[in-house]
Amino acid sequence: MALMIKGIPAAPGIALGNAVLYVPNNTAEICPETQKKIGPEQVEEELRRVREAVAKASDELKDIGSQVSKKAGKEAAEIFFAQEMMVNDPSLLESITKNITERFLPAEQSCYLACLEMAETMEQIPDEYFKQRANDLRDIGKRLVRCLKGIPETSLDSLEDGSVLVAPDLAPSDTASLDPSKVKGIVLDHGGKTGHTAILARSLGIPAVVGTIQATSSICAGDLVAVDGESGEVLVRPDESLVSEVRKRAEAYEKERQRLEKLRDLPSVTVDGRRVETSANIGSPKDVPLVLRAGAEGVGLFRTEFLFIDRDAMPGEEEQFAAYREVLERLSPRPVVIRTLDIGGDKEIPYLNLPAEDNPFLGVRAIRLCLKEKELFKTQLRALLRASRYGNLKIMFPMIATVDELREAKRILGEVRRDLEREGHEITGFEVGIMVEIPAAALCADVLARECDFFSIGTNDLVQYTMAADRGNPELGSLSDPFHPAVLRLIERTIKSGHEAGIWVGMCGEMAGIPEAVPLLVGMGIDELSMAPGSVPRCKEIVRKLDLKRAREVKEAVMKMTDAKEIRAYLLNFVSKL
Ligand code: PEP
Ligand code: MG
Repeated sequence: MALMIKGIPAAPGIALGNAVLYVPNNTAEICPETQKKIGPEQVEEELRRVREAVAKASDELKDIGSQVSKKAGKEAAEIFFAQEMMVNDPSLLESITKNITERFLPAEQSCYLACLEMAETMEQIPDEYFKQRANDLRDIGKRLVRCLKGIPETSLDSLEDGSVLVAPDLAPSDTASLDPSKVKGIVLDHGGKTGHTAILARSLGIPAVVGTIQATSSICAGDLVAVDGESGEVLVRPDESLVSEVRKRAEAYEKERQRLEKLRDLPSVTVDGRRVETSANIGSPKDVPLVLRAGAEGVGLFRTEFLFIDRDAMPGEEEQFAAYREVLERLSPRPVVIRTLDIGGDKEIPYLNLPAEDNPFLGVRAIRLCLKEKELFKTQLRALLRASRYGNLKIMFPMIATVDELREAKRILGEVRRDLEREGHEITGFEVGIMVEIPAAALCADVLARECDFFSIGTNDLVQYTMAADRGNPELGSLSDPFHPAVLRLIERTIKSGHEAGIWVGMCGEMAGIPEAVPLLVGMGIDELSMAPGSVPRCKEIVRKLDLKRAREVKEAVMKMTDAKEIRAYLLNFVSKL
């Protein structure tokens, strides 16, 4: 019998494929939290289970090491061979054994805690080598628990062609490593529309439905699954007639995509001549072909933190310089807004060993971290300024809440510039702007506008902070709505304050790529809209069909409304008639 699961549509497109269930090795779910004790009669059995798990983990690590060695060379494989030695280290086995025989802890907890405690001791040593080994030990702890629980290891690298990936959740680093030619669709239990996993799925062009709550418990490995990333519907084990219906919808979607692609080189100007730049959001130089294919007029947001995830060590100045230069050069003379690091929130970088926070989205994130970790920040600024002469660079600081933060970031930028000039580097003109994504910044936009060259409104965070609704929590879908009047007032105020100070105002949050938002934002006077590359053709077509006078009337009508649902319905109706 077919089953229909409803979730949050997160990346458009329709996919049909066989389910692969993925349990990330790093989820908290596999880590024991209970303080359960065993009886003395269970000690022998638990010790035997540990011996088996160690042997299994050791075999797995040897296997991964030899596979990686073949694919990526000996150096890359070294980490797994080192872990294989660590899992057999007698002192580790001694602490696990003590946890069982003296503390009477079950095997899972004994292994996990032994690794964690050793990792914490190593971390006290102020040396990068020991920090890395501490990370290895944490990984080993999780691997041993997984082996004890009999959960098989799934590797995202070995997914078959035509898979639909079904998982409780995916870290942005997992999503970034997916191969869109193999993974046809993504279905997750958790996550929201503006979480970074959804954003990456859109960039990669993989249809995705998130926040289904029950996907992993209702879908079995190998089930045929249809994912509709527009409606948020997931059909499990559809019969013949449903499959042919899904295929028809997929064909219609593809036809529309091709029609829009033909129009991609037309300029993004309203019928009465108002230019609204339509740009794309990217996360790496690999995305440049997507920008060009979409007909985007520039890059409105390059999320540089994606260069830092899915790896074991930080990219240095040269590597960053090469990435920024490549994007600027290949897109020149188009403008490219490169955002400085926005680490924190749902974007963790394990090798930076940052302390855990109770509320990471309200913590030391983005510019707050960069102003604390000045070397990290300066390395990036050096790479950016050195790349300035290869294209049309605009540097953007994320999560600015106060004018002091902006001044301090600019002061450091000036310092870096002077150092580079002393070293003989040529630096050409560039703009400096900020993201307006914290309500404090939107409310004081007039003050901030006097000290920078542009604003880009980040609605993903602006909505989450205005509505006090976690952007990754599917239960809060109706609150996480950019069309809420409170959010719209902040957006309107930001655009007005920017224009009064004579600077341009764009938007790079996900709202910019929602077709029905376009008339409203154009009516408010937005200068640039930046979105997932796949959304550019459709939004550009809407700009081209708009008349500025009419868009202003739409804005006036919407700003009198009191409810997000009513606003959306009104705008959808308006767009459908264009
Ligand atoms: C935003 O908050 O809207 C934004 C574009 O930044 P990010 O999604 O990377 O937090
Ligand atoms: Mg943000």
